[in-house]
Amino acid sequence: MDFRFSPEEEKFNQEVRDFFIAEEQTVKEARKEWDSGLGYGPACWEILKKIGARGWLCPTWPKEYGGLETSYMNRYIVMEQMHYFLNIYSTVGAGMAGPVILHHGDEEQKTRFLLPIARGEVEFALGYTEPQAGSDLAALSIKAEDKGDHFVIDGAKLFNTRVHYAQYHWLGARTAVTEPKHKGISLFIVDLKTPGITISPIWTVGGMRTNEVFYDNVKVPKNALVGEKNRGFYYILEALDYERISSVSALERGFQEVLEYVKKTGKNKDPLIRQKLAGLAIEIETARLFALRVAWMLNRDKVPNYEAAMLKMLVSETEQNFVNTTMQIFGPYGVIQKGSKWTQLSGEYERIYRDSLENLITRGTSEIMRNLIAQRGLGLPRR
Ligand SMILES: Cc1cc2nc3c(=O)[nH]c(=O)nc-3n(C[C@H](O)[C@H](O)[C@H](O)COP(=O)(O)OP(=O)(O)OC[C@H]3O[C@@H](n4cnc5c(N)ncnc54)[C@H](O)[C@@H]3O)c2cc1C
Repeated sequence: MDFRFSPEEEKFNQEVRDFFIAEEQTVKEARKEWDSGLGYGPACWEILKKIGARGWLCPTWPKEYGGLETSYMNRYIVMEQMHYFLNIYSTVGAGMAGPVILHHGDEEQKTRFLLPIARGEVEFALGYTEPQAGSDLAALSIKAEDKGDHFVIDGAKLFNTRVHYAQYHWLGARTAVTEPKHKGISLFIVDLKTPGITISPIWTVGGMRTNEVFYDNVKVPKNALVGEKNRGFYYILEALDYERISSVSALERGFQEVLEYVKKTGKNKDPLIRQKLAGLAIEIETARLFALRVAWMLNRDKVPNYEAAMLKMLVSETEQNFVNTTMQIFGPYGVIQKGSKWTQLSGEYERIYRDSLENLITRGTSEIMRNLIAQRGLGLPRR
């Protein structure tokens, strides 16, 4: 199997790379904003709009919705470069909500949301998790009552990461009490400025902001409903498959940085460090080949399912190995926080180490990924 990009793809890859290099100052500011844990600030919005203006955020979409009608491989190329330069490989709108709107939304929703998503002008926040509904998403209980010409939403969400700067909430809510539970869930797009919504911050161990969101009898219009009523769980599952697609280019950048550090400091003489780095190089390369396999599937209009779970798990666990190895290489200096003269490299690794834990939990925990792979990939029983 040939995993290389075609000559046209190579050319596009270089074009995207040149763009990010030319935008060096905005890129630097945007990375700083993102790494602060607060999400998008002015520089992130600026760079996203520039990427969007080129049609690169959603390149596979129809031109009328801001796309370029090009192959998925080109989207993958943009994702890799975005990840490398910004640490962000997609927006939620472009990567998760948008594809579901494209497949299941009505014409009015497509016209209203797809172009601003593709242009990088708006962002969505995922509103799935609740205190009693995380891995078991079907247990969600926030209530959306159908009042004929509108819905009234009442309840609370937990760990909703981008609500403090996104414009829209991609909300899973209960519209019927059914058995099985997943048949009574609907999906809504809620304008986060709607009266009755309160947002309260939660800070993670990695210093990132996520949120609780409270809905107090929030009135939303009928056209907030995506697709069919009570079929929201299936749309959420589809969006989750897209959400688990990722790239390893930020990890490759980090690995190169640590490799250079080891060479410069003479730590490369340590056989244990050499062994660890060689092992990591294999894991990172494996994860990239798997990311390419998933991109290849999407290029052929196949939705990766257990394959997306494999990729998600592989990338987040390789990241764990990377941060653990880095900490071992730095020794006692690894835990020193940025700002001290004793920190190694950029001084960022102490935070990156803490922050990396998040990836083992968000978008589905590693245990849940293993369950999915066992059931859907290997045909093993659920219980
Ligand atoms: C930093 C951060 C950001 C997040 N951002 C968002 C967001 O933007 N939007 C959103 O909706 N959610 C978000 N989440 C929520 C995230 O998706 C959930 O935390 C995750 O799905 C796990 O759910 P839980 O926390 O309820 O843990 P639980 O589901 O209670 O799981 C607890 C433990 O039990 C294990 N476990 C659970 N069920 C099984 C099983 N069947 N088999 C084996 N092991 C199992 C889990 O792996 C885990 O180790 C975020 C979470 C974090 C930490």
